[in-house]
Amino acid sequence: MSKISIFLCNCFGEIGKIIDLESIRKKLETDPAVDSVTIVESLCLPGDAARAHSVIRERGMGKVLIGACSPYGNMEYVRLALAKEGTNVRTVRMVDLREGCAWVHGKNPQGATRKAASQLDMELALLQNMQNSKDVAIQVQQEALVIGAGPAGLSAAAGLARLGFRTHLIDRGSAPGGLLNVVTKTYPADEPGPQKIKSFVDETNKNSLIRFYGKTKVSAVKGYAGDFKVSLAGPEGNTVLRVGAVVLATGARLLFPQGMFGYGKVKNVITQMEMERRFATSAASCKTAVFIQCVGARNGERPYCSTICCPLSLKNAMRVMDENPGAKAYVLHRDIMTPGSVLEAYYRKALQRGVQFIRFDADRPPEVRGQDQVSGVEVFDTISGVSRTLETDLLVLSTPFIPDPDATALARMLNIPVDKYGFYAEVYPIHPVETRNDGIFICGTARWPVSSDQAIAQGEAAAMKAASFLGKETVSALTMSRVPGGKLGHATADAAACTGCGNCVAVCPYEACRLQRTGNRSVSRVIKIRCKACGSCVSVCPNGAMQMPEQNYRVTGEMIRRAFREVR
Ligand SMILES: Cc1cc2nc3c(=O)[nH]c(=O)nc-3n(C[C@H](O)[C@H](O)[C@H](O)COP(=O)(O)OP(=O)(O)OC[C@H]3O[C@@H](n4cnc5c(N)ncnc54)[C@H](O)[C@@H]3O)c2cc1C
Ligand code: SF4
Ligand code: SF4
Ligand code: SF4
Repeated sequence: MSKISIFLCNCFGEIGKIIDLESIRKKLETDPAVDSVTIVESLCLPGDAARAHSVIRERGMGKVLIGACSPYGNMEYVRLALAKEGTNVRTVRMVDLREGCAWVHGKNPQGATRKAASQLDMELALLQNMQNSKDVAIQVQQEALVIGAGPAGLSAAAGLARLGFRTHLIDRGSAPGGLLNVVTKTYPADEPGPQKIKSFVDETNKNSLIRFYGKTKVSAVKGYAGDFKVSLAGPEGNTVLRVGAVVLATGARLLFPQGMFGYGKVKNVITQMEMERRFATSAASCKTAVFIQCVGARNGERPYCSTICCPLSLKNAMRVMDENPGAKAYVLHRDIMTPGSVLEAYYRKALQRGVQFIRFDADRPPEVRGQDQVSGVEVFDTISGVSRTLETDLLVLSTPFIPDPDATALARMLNIPVDKYGFYAEVYPIHPVETRNDGIFICGTARWPVSSDQAIAQGEAAAMKAASFLGKETVSALTMSRVPGGKLGHATADAAACTGCGNCVAVCPYEACRLQRTGNRSVSRVIKIRCKACGSCVSVCPNGAMQMPEQNYRVTGEMIRRAFREVR
C-alpha cells in the first residue's frame, strides 16, 4: 500500500493559533500508513506549495492529505497545482481546518484540536481503504453533426470545417438559411437576411468537409461523447453516422397569437412573420401601422423577454414609413428593450424617423376596434395618463420566440435537459453552449431567444467547444470531466451482487447505467464514459452492488468507526 504524505497549513496563524498542529503532527506520525507530516506556513504561497511538491516528488508519494482552509477556497488551486505536477487528484484529500474548525470553534481550542485530529483521521481511513476506478479510453470519431442549418448551425458547420473537421449539416427543410430566408431586411444594418448568411451558405456548398443533408431529421441516437451513432431519416432513406460531437441549432418559432387582439378573426391583424412575408412580396401597403409589443410575452406563462421583437418592430415601423410615403407608425409597448449601444442608436433613429411610441400597462392592454377589418386601436398611455384612439388599417402583433415543437423529442434522444419553457438548457451559465451530456453543444434560438448576429456568434462558440473535444484522438472516462484535474472516480456494479432490480438505471441522470443480459439474468453495467460520479445509483442500490471504488461502503464504514474511536 502506498504511504501517505500529510501537509498541515498554519495559514499565518489563522489555524495554528487555535488548533495545536504540533500535537496533531506527533499523533499522526505514529500511524504506520503515514510517511511524513509537514507543517507549512501557508500552502497557497508559491514557496510552501513548491516545498509540498518536492516532498511528494522526492518521496514518490501516491496519496496526499492536506489540512488547511476550506476546499472550496484556495485549496482548489493547491489541488490543481498538485494535479499539474502529476499527482493523481483522486488520491489527494483535504480537510477544512480553518473555516470549519479553527474559526467556528475559536473559543474552544482544545475541542477544535480534537475535531481537527478526528477529521484528519477519518480522511486517513479513506486514503488507506480506497480503491481506484479503472479508466477506459475510447477513440474519438473526429467528425461532427450539426442539426439545423439556420444562422447558428451554418456558422457552427463553417467553424468546424475551417478547423479541419468533417461536418455533417442536416436540416428538416430543403435549403440552408433558417428563418433568415424569409427576412428581406435585417436590423440593425438593413442587410437582406440571405445576404447576411451568404458566406456561410457558400462555404457549405464549396467546402468539401461539409456535407449538407436537406429534408433530413434525426431518428435515433446511441453512444456517448466521442462516439455517437446517429441515425438519420432523409430522402435517401436511412443513414447512420458515427460522430464525436453534436451541435444542436434547431432554432425556435414565434408564438402563434390565435384569439389575441382579434388575430384569426379580424382582417389585417397579423404577426411579425406575416409582416416579413408582406414586405417580401411588396404587399405591405398601409396608411397607418400599429405594432403591439409583448403579445403573449412577459406574462405569467412566459415571463421572459424574447429580445428580438422590440428591435424587429423598430425595423418594420421604419420600413412601413419608408415604403408608404406619408404613412404613420405607432409602437405600443410596455418597455422598449434595445440593449447595447448599437440597438440604442437604432431606437434613436426610429424616434428621429418619426415612429411614435406609446407605453401601456400590462393590466390595461390596448383594445382593437373593427369587426371584419381592423379600423383602430384604443390604448391608455401611461406616460400622459390619457386614452388615445389610433385609426389604423394594419395591426402587427409582436409575439415571442417559443421552443420548436421538435425540441423536446430531440432533447430526449440526446439525453439533454430543456429549461422550464422548453429551450435546450446549458449546463452552467459559465458554460453557455455546453449541455449536461458531454459532446452535445447548443447554440442559437434553440437555447434562448437571440438575434441573428448572436446566433452566428453562438454557432462559432459551439464549434470551438466541439473542436476542442474532437481534437483529442482519445478520451478517457476519468479525465473527461468539468471538474478541473479530472473526475473523482465512477460507479462500478458488482455483477455477482446485482439482482437486476433496475433502480440504478431509473435514477441515473446521465443514462450511464444499463441492464445487460448475462446468462439467464440481467445485471447492471455502467457506461463509464458517461458516468459523472454523482453517486445517485449507489444510494438506491438495495444490495450494495453499486459502489464508487474511491469511496465504497467499506471506506465509509471505516471513516465512521474512526470518527467514534475516541468515544468508544
Ligand atoms: C419575423 C422575424 C424577423 C426577424 N428579423 C431579424 C432581424 O431583422 N435581425 C436579426 O438579427 N434577427 C432577426 N430575426 C431573428 C433571427 O431570425 C434569428 O435570430 C435566427 O434565425 C436564429 O438562428 P438559428 O440558427 O438559431 O435558428 P433558425 O434560423 O430558426 O434555424 C433553425 C434551423 O433548424 C432547422 N430545424 C429545426 N428543427 C429541426 C430538426 N428537428 N431537424 C433538422 N432541422 C431542424 C430549421 O428548419 C431551421 O432551418 C427575426 C426573426 C423573425 C421570426
Ligand atoms: S423584446 Fe419582445 S418580449 Fe421583450 S419587451 Fe420587446 S416586445 Fe416584449
Ligand atoms: S454515479 Fe451518477 S452518473 Fe454515475 S452511473 Fe451512478 S447515477 Fe449515473
Ligand atoms: S440498483 Fe443495484 S441491484 Fe439494482 S440493478 Fe442496479 S446495481 Fe443491480
